[in-house]
Amino acid sequence: MERREFLKKTGVAAAAAVASTAVAAPAVLAQKKYRWKMVTTWPPNLPVLQVGAERFAKRVEEVSEGRMKIQVFAAGELVPALGVFDAVSQGTVECGSGAAYYWAGKVPAAQWFTSVPFGLNAQGINAWFYGGDGLKLWEEVYAPFNLIARPQGNSGVQMGGWFRKKMETIDDFKGLKMRIPGLGGKVIAKAGGTVVLLPVGDIFTSLERGVIDATEWLGPMHDLRMGFYKAAQYYYYPGWHEPGTCLEVMFNKKKYDELPADLKGIIDMCAMETNLWSLSMFEAGNGAALQELITKHKVELIRFPDPLLDELRKMAKETMEEEAEKDPVSRKVHESFKKFKEQVGVWGSVSENAYYNVIADKYSLKG
Ligand code: CA
Repeated sequence: MERREFLKKTGVAAAAAVASTAVAAPAVLAQKKYRWKMVTTWPPNLPVLQVGAERFAKRVEEVSEGRMKIQVFAAGELVPALGVFDAVSQGTVECGSGAAYYWAGKVPAAQWFTSVPFGLNAQGINAWFYGGDGLKLWEEVYAPFNLIARPQGNSGVQMGGWFRKKMETIDDFKGLKMRIPGLGGKVIAKAGGTVVLLPVGDIFTSLERGVIDATEWLGPMHDLRMGFYKAAQYYYYPGWHEPGTCLEVMFNKKKYDELPADLKGIIDMCAMETNLWSLSMFEAGNGAALQELITKHKVELIRFPDPLLDELRKMAKETMEEEAEKDPVSRKVHESFKKFKEQVGVWGSVSENAYYNVIADKYSLKG
């Protein structure tokens, strides 16, 4: 309206001359530039995870046309891997990337936002975040820590792990020394196993030398890169303990709230885009790596027997109820997650699951 009035009064030529200076100058002055730092829990160059964090930063810079630039630091470069939460919470840096279950010691409720044993798969947890209460609850859980998080990736269903002996019944877990962190580890401990936590660099040699009997890691793409097939004979599936592990990008809430609405939108959109990109990279990479493990490295792929899975499922259920007792907000998140899982589970049984069963005989593990 203003422009039309102006044109009427002054004429087109004069307006054009004025507009070219008057419009351009304030636009440039208004473009405040943001220079942020991001710390991550991942080693440098770790495919999809560290690479995904860097990709997110690059996309934010591209889409904002340089108004926001995020410099990314891998674990240990600025703060240690497990220092990410505090560094972002306290505002030492503006943002961080990792997985919410690393903060279980400080925030038990955070665990549901990463992965729950026998919980939601990638499609389900994304539906809980974007189509249910998941993201709202995550914001509620992180707000007291001056943090706000967004899903930034998903591994999809992981593998069950590498074992030096065959796992036939639940009793085979008794005395088994396994590297398996988080909630999955708690379930293994219930089954009588000994959970061993190791720095990333020590896992392979510990498995190779028999210091541990088993380890889980990620999916075929990352497991192949770790060389586990040289240290353990049996590769079990499915990864019941991490059926759709969500990665996070977190922001110092005060810094995030100070951003203009369009930059907040750009950050949110780039996180959502990276979430989809990451799941797609895992899916494509795992498919190719599994073929290589089977055909080139002659890895023996074994499905956990159903009775063993049933026992683990019972123990996982107990574990989650115990975790939910830790504080009222954990209970609230647990109830939301459980209810949502039941709903999408029933739907999934007649959609994705039914479809997978229909096409299953078309695929052979032998390639
Ligand atoms: Ca894992």
